[in-house]
Formats: sequence, structure tokens, C-alpha cells
Amino acid sequence: MKFDELLENNKKYLQDNGEICKSKIPKYPRKRMAILTCMDTRLTFQLEKSLGLKRGDSIILKTAGNNMRGQEVRSLIAAIYTLKVDKIMVIGHPDCGMANLDVENIRDRMISRGVKKEDIDKLGDLEYWFETFCDTKDNVLDNVKMLKEHPLIPNDVKIGGFYFNQDTSELFKLC
Ligand SMILES: [Zn+2]
Repeated sequence: MKFDELLENNKKYLQDNGEICKSKIPKYPRKRMAILTCMDTRLTFQLEKSLGLKRGDSIILKTAGNNMRGQEVRSLIAAIYTLKVDKIMVIGHPDCGMANLDVENIRDRMISRGVKKEDIDKLGDLEYWFETFCDTKDNVLDNVKMLKEHPLIPNDVKIGGFYFNQDTSELFKLC
């Protein structure tokens, strides 16, 4: 798919949905909720839909493997203090591409595509840098624990860990 195709799709969408497109909704999430989940395309649209979420209901952050050692935590903290979020759901899923990542293979592919070895070395431990993990459920539990212990997240924010099966659209509570 080319970018131009998407621009064309957008034009067509505006023609077909003119009035809907103009609807204005507040920036504060209606359900005062933020979800951190995986960027896996099999979750896209389906997760939101199967939870009954609509546009404007919840902040949804997506990362590889629903990891959050970087900007994601800052986004969640910003959402708590600026967008009135008081609930956070961390949602993992089976067959995650970030589980058991073969970082040596990635290193080889980087080098074969022209990335300099010294630039890769600057990243340090690649497994740590990519935040790869062995068990997709344990990863959710670890991330929830990290958020609960985060010194900048107040105790009144509810934080829960969940697991979404992309093949059946079932959601399970883990903690
Ligand atoms: Zn995933």
C-alpha cells in the first residue's frame, strides 16, 4: 500500500461521512481510562470494539509487547495529571512477537542493512534495550507491578493487568 492510496481513501471517507467527521468530542477520556497494550495488528480495532469502547472513551497506548520502560510511562503520568485518567489497564496477548526475541538475529540484520556495529554497541544489552521477555503473562504482571510501585503514580489510580486472546477476542483478568 502506498501513502497516496491512504490519502485517496481519506478523501473518499470525507465524501461519504461528511457529518460524522465534523463531530467534536472532548479531549478528556470519557471513561477516565488509559490502556497500554501491544502494537500487534491483530488487536487493532478488535480490542477496542470487543471492550465496548468508542472514540473519546479511553487513551490507548501501543508499544511492542506492551512494554513501558520509555516514553510510555511518561505518557501515562501525563494522562493522569492532565487528562484526569484514574484507571490504567495493561493488556498483553498470546503469541506476542516481542516474546523470546532473537536479538542476535536482529543484530545481524541491522548490520546487513548498513547499520554500524558501533551504533548497535552503544545500545548496550540488546535484550534489555528491546525489553524482550519469555512469558507474555508474566510480562503483564511485571509491568503492572512497575506501575504500582512508580513513585510518580498516586495510589488512588486503579491499575489492572489483563490478557486478550486475539484469536477469540476474549479478555481475561490477570491481576
Ligand atoms: Zn504483542
